[in-house]
Amino acid sequence: MIRCPVCKKKLMLSPTMQVGSQLGCVNCGSVLEVVRRNPDELKAVPQSATHNPDSKPESYA
Ligand SMILES: [Zn+2]
Repeated sequence: MIRCPVCKKKLMLSPTMQVGSQLGCVNCGSVLEVVRRNPDELKAVPQSATHNPDSKPESYA
């Protein structure tokens, strides 16, 4: 069992999730990244820092 680092809600972490995988908290909507497995550890990812190779915010200007 692991808790959201933002809202402390208990979350289910899929066994297939690896370090670097991201998921959304079902409670607060925060983007969380797996930083360690066994024991599991999550960190909150700032929305502006999420990696999306198909989206380049800088190019909107
Ligand atoms: Zn949360």
